[in-house]
Amino acid sequence: MKIKEILLTEGVEQKISIKGWVRTRRGSKHVSFIAINDGSTINNIQIVAEATDFNEELIKQITTGSCISVRGKLVASKGSGQAVEILASSIDMLGAADADEYPLQPKKHSLEFLRENAHLRFRTNTFSAVFRLRHALTFAVHKFFNDKGFFNLHTPIITGADAEGAGEMFQVTNLDLEALPKTEEGKIDFSADFFGSKTNLTVSGQLEAELGALALGQVYTFGPTFRAENSNTSRHLSEFWMIEPEIAFADLKQNIDLAEEFLKYCIQYCLDNNADDLKFLDTRMSEEESKLKKEERSEMGLIERLKIIIENDFERITYRKAIDVLINSTPNKKKKFQYPINGFGDDLQSEHERYLVEKKYKKPVIITDYPKEIKAFYMRINDDNETVGAMDILFPAIGEIVGGSQREERLDKLQERMIEMDIDQKELWWYLETRKFGTCTHSGFGLGFERLIMFVTGMKNIRDVIPFPRTPQNAEF
Ligand code: ATP
Ligand code: MN
Repeated sequence: MKIKEILLTEGVEQKISIKGWVRTRRGSKHVSFIAINDGSTINNIQIVAEATDFNEELIKQITTGSCISVRGKLVASKGSGQAVEILASSIDMLGAADADEYPLQPKKHSLEFLRENAHLRFRTNTFSAVFRLRHALTFAVHKFFNDKGFFNLHTPIITGADAEGAGEMFQVTNLDLEALPKTEEGKIDFSADFFGSKTNLTVSGQLEAELGALALGQVYTFGPTFRAENSNTSRHLSEFWMIEPEIAFADLKQNIDLAEEFLKYCIQYCLDNNADDLKFLDTRMSEEESKLKKEERSEMGLIERLKIIIENDFERITYRKAIDVLINSTPNKKKKFQYPINGFGDDLQSEHERYLVEKKYKKPVIITDYPKEIKAFYMRINDDNETVGAMDILFPAIGEIVGGSQREERLDKLQERMIEMDIDQKELWWYLETRKFGTCTHSGFGLGFERLIMFVTGMKNIRDVIPFPRTPQNAEF
């Protein structure tokens, strides 16, 4: 049985068989108490092993990190701290763990240390909780869209298009880098490359998702995306997962409504299904924060923060309004921003986003209608000819979590923008054809999955919410 099931069963005295990894063993000459965990829940179960029933050598081998199989009887616990425990009748050592060498001791390790031991960090309470929540969120994403009649579309990971401009790309090639084939002009001859042209890892599945939406109606992607930007921040990975719905006949407002409903749904799903893990992480977060200076602490606990998101409407403001608010803000006037805000056209940096979310509105903020110059070519140009139908959703502690837009569905306007932004129309001929043949209003957005997990778990570094992070200078495991 799994510990999760055992803790839900009512009757005691039943025979139980479980397998798991030892967290701690303590006790006396007469009896040992072994806490084991099998990953099904944050909760351990206590095994009671009477010395008279077991070989002393076996008991000694049961150290932190070892893996054992136990048979016994479920009984009401005599100790405090647990309602039930297992009175062991037999124990098998499945895999010993040399106590002198096993890196994880039953004490608190730093997150940095655990990152270096990412192969073992699943065995800690914190990371097992994070990865159970990551699973719950994955499931919630699929359930949300499936229930609404969306179709999941697997867009390519290797792509020939590098026009999207969402970030620097990783090139994919099987050319011999020591002996690159050259054209007559002395350039690299990509016609000799595996795909007969230059290819990269995708930065987004959006353009292909649009093709699907203009036939299937509503689609969403949920896949890995790659960015070779050298930004070593706590919010950027080189390989991350993105969810990108694309909806035919939806305008910007409907797109925003969907994104807000979606985020609330995912958070509610975790509150409903992962209460134990969230409670653990809530406690963990307040312990971590108590070490910070008072002004750096957040005013709310983790669970409270999640509930606030669900219970409140997100603030919706235009970019022009945001600039207005920022220009007149105290930090701008006192020159406290690293990038001062001067007016229309300025890009919003994370310090500005944090001001709006954490100081000004104290809830998620959706900013719409950005200047066309700072957004992608496919966003629908507004009637003012200066702004586009874009929307970014900003979350407390995270900053940008969603970026989306209404797409430019008018062929002539789209071509105009591509010329202005120097984007190769030949390369994207297939994208343009959807505007030529049966075009329609449509919209979509991209949610950075790890940013959502950061928010739900309260983890402050994005490296701690993906099993094996890829960042500049690091692709171990
Ligand atoms: P940022 O300004 O934070 O770099 P972006 O403008 O590059 O984000 P988009 O291209 O709009 O982001 O991507 C959509 C979403 O993907 C973002 O809202 C964010 O949640 C997420 N995202 C973007 N870049 C990364 C990254 N390097 N690592 C993890 N998530 C990311
Ligand atoms: Mn970016």
